[in-house]
Amino acid sequence: MVVVMSVGADDEDVARVVERVREAGGEAFVSRGRYRTIIGLVGDTGSFRELPLSTLPGVEQVVQVGKPYKLVARELHPAPSTVRVGPAAFGRDGFTVVAGPCAVDSREQALEAARAARRAGATALRGGAYKPRTSPYSFQGLAAAGLEILAECREETGLPIVTEVLEPRDVEKVAAVADALQVGARNMQNFSLLKEVGRLHVPVVLKRGLSATVEEWLMAAEYIAQQGNSEIVLCERGIRTFEPSTRNTLDLAGMAVARRESHLPVIVDPSHATGDRTLVGPMALAALAAGADGVMVEVHPRPSEALCDGPQALTPDELEALTAELAALARTLGRPLTTLPQSTKGASG
Ligand code: PEP
Ligand code: MN
Repeated sequence: MVVVMSVGADDEDVARVVERVREAGGEAFVSRGRYRTIIGLVGDTGSFRELPLSTLPGVEQVVQVGKPYKLVARELHPAPSTVRVGPAAFGRDGFTVVAGPCAVDSREQALEAARAARRAGATALRGGAYKPRTSPYSFQGLAAAGLEILAECREETGLPIVTEVLEPRDVEKVAAVADALQVGARNMQNFSLLKEVGRLHVPVVLKRGLSATVEEWLMAAEYIAQQGNSEIVLCERGIRTFEPSTRNTLDLAGMAVARRESHLPVIVDPSHATGDRTLVGPMALAALAAGADGVMVEVHPRPSEALCDGPQALTPDELEALTAELAALARTLGRPLTTLPQSTKGASG
């Protein structure tokens, strides 16, 4: 961190900054120019950030050098991480497809969707038992009954379960069934939830907030990692912009930045990014071409009957066609689609 003093700052102003930095356990190196003095800070930058340096007299600007996140940064952990979700893997060696319904609507629907996901070559099943809905009058999910259905889907297909947890008080209950806990876009900065999922040793799929910068997203991941859980998969799901023709705007550049800045795997959710089933395939292929480590897509046996997000759900046939295209492109790019180990239940080869 560097403190830039204003042109009119006097010795007393400089001494005050140096003193505050030393009190916080750091060192301050003063460099006096012809018109301006700058002070370089060395030590625990986290503690300097708490200091109100920019409000001290004579200070013009405090410049942050380096990243505010550490545990999730590539800077200190250059090797990319692989995150295992049950028998599935997310990492830089392959491309992982997660598929499933937006919500568990019923036992029959979830089982059909799970079979479709398995048939198409997905290696994990998504599906919400607890749904964050904009309207309190919309279907809120089957809750505990939905979790039981997801467990049955795993039992039959062998696919590990990615499912959302909305509240800190539900974390243990959802984690008892989930192979990965999803923290949704609306909860990306729910710090008590982040800390709670960080205390467990269950992988977390952390979606980017609707209006979060990449740095805020990585700082949310830092909250989880700071509690001891580094099994985090980042998920870009579109951000809100001025463009109304898609549900959100898929920020593939943001995905690539997150992937460059962090060692964590980064996947893309083209379903929520576009809100439109005709755009899910093109954006999934674009995500693969742009370097993403996987996609998470919504599929429903009968999208017109879906209780949630029907317009963006692929049919089972569409999912199969998409995974075939993804597999072909992935082979060309030398990053094959990941598969489940042969020993996994339901493995058909
Ligand atoms: C979901 O995955 O169904 C969901 C609600 O996603 P998001 O949090 O990205 O809106
Ligand atoms: Mn959804």
